[in-house]
Amino acid sequence: MRILGIETSCDETGVALYDSERGLLEHALFSQVDLHADYGGVVPELASRDHVRKLLPLVRQVMERSGTAPADLDGIAYTAGPGLVGALMVGACAGRALAYGWDVPAVEIHHMEGHLLAPMLEENPPAFPFVALLVSGGHTQLVDVRGLGEYELLGESLDDAAGEAFDKAAKMLDLDYPGGPRLAALAEKGDPSRFTFPRPMTDRPGLDFSFSGLKTYTLTTVRDNALEDGLPDEQTCADIAAAFQEAVVDTLVIKCRRALKATGRKTLVVAGGVSANKLLRERLEAALAKEGATACYPRHEFCTDNGAMIAYAGYLRLKAGQRADLGVEVRPRWPMTELQGGLAG
Ligand code: ATP
Ligand code: MG
Ligand code: FE
Repeated sequence: MRILGIETSCDETGVALYDSERGLLEHALFSQVDLHADYGGVVPELASRDHVRKLLPLVRQVMERSGTAPADLDGIAYTAGPGLVGALMVGACAGRALAYGWDVPAVEIHHMEGHLLAPMLEENPPAFPFVALLVSGGHTQLVDVRGLGEYELLGESLDDAAGEAFDKAAKMLDLDYPGGPRLAALAEKGDPSRFTFPRPMTDRPGLDFSFSGLKTYTLTTVRDNALEDGLPDEQTCADIAAAFQEAVVDTLVIKCRRALKATGRKTLVVAGGVSANKLLRERLEAALAKEGATACYPRHEFCTDNGAMIAYAGYLRLKAGQRADLGVEVRPRWPMTELQGGLAG
């Protein structure tokens, strides 16, 4: 089977072709980071308009580069939620229309299921069941994954997502958007022991998270150490970044260990933008080794949004017989636990 995948839920236009015999054939991504940089965050209307501009050229590009004709396709998968409604509409309308025009089935994909399945595009892919830590710009969730669409939410953030906390802390340190990777780079020059940040909600049982307190703690520390221009000196900024990153990573690792213990699973899948974080991977590796468990991640470029994960999720769901009807429907909010499970492999 050969599936075209389309992702437009936020500020990345992603398109890819997955072939069940040959694996990932092509993928193309256009990031709108520069478009939104001046605003310090994603501007929904600008995002939608840019998806309109970029999507079809990217579809043409992956089709041409892989020598794929419409008649070679067995289906089209597009992200139907969660995300920005206008941005989702662009990918969903285009995906549904192309599938209709080319006479192939279409399938709606949940963006977080895409993230969750992304590690399956790598060598030694994880096998069901496993525990997944989804850490992205909009989500921080621990999920018990028994199979495709068989998801039990074990815990989630009660306020900010981990990626969002990284972005907000980065803003306080005057780093450009998206701040997560920039804060991580700055933290490498810092001394993580100079400041000690709290590890929210780790002192009581449970698998939920809270990151908004860490944000306040960061702001207070920045203010207490600020010079005349409102920012601490360079080394202090790096030390704050290091302390912040330590606190987030430590918190995530503690909850992952707890989730593995509670479920008895031996595999942890980590996906979403924050799964690219080097310290998180190092610390998880060390912690899981002690428990005889292993962690699986997407390759670096598939941690954040991309079309490859949507094409792959689409392949699994189309293979299992799922089809979208002709109406175009997107869901800005869409709990992953509502997805259809119990599908035939
Ligand atoms: P969602 O998937 O929840 O809808 P999203 O699609 O915006 O949100 P992703 O594209 O998966 O999120 O990830 C982007 C987030 O990952 C941003 O918040 C970004 O700062 C963060 N991020 C990316 N790389 C790193 C890193 N190395 N360290 C920490 N955070 C990172
Ligand atoms: Mg993004
Ligand atoms: Fe995402």
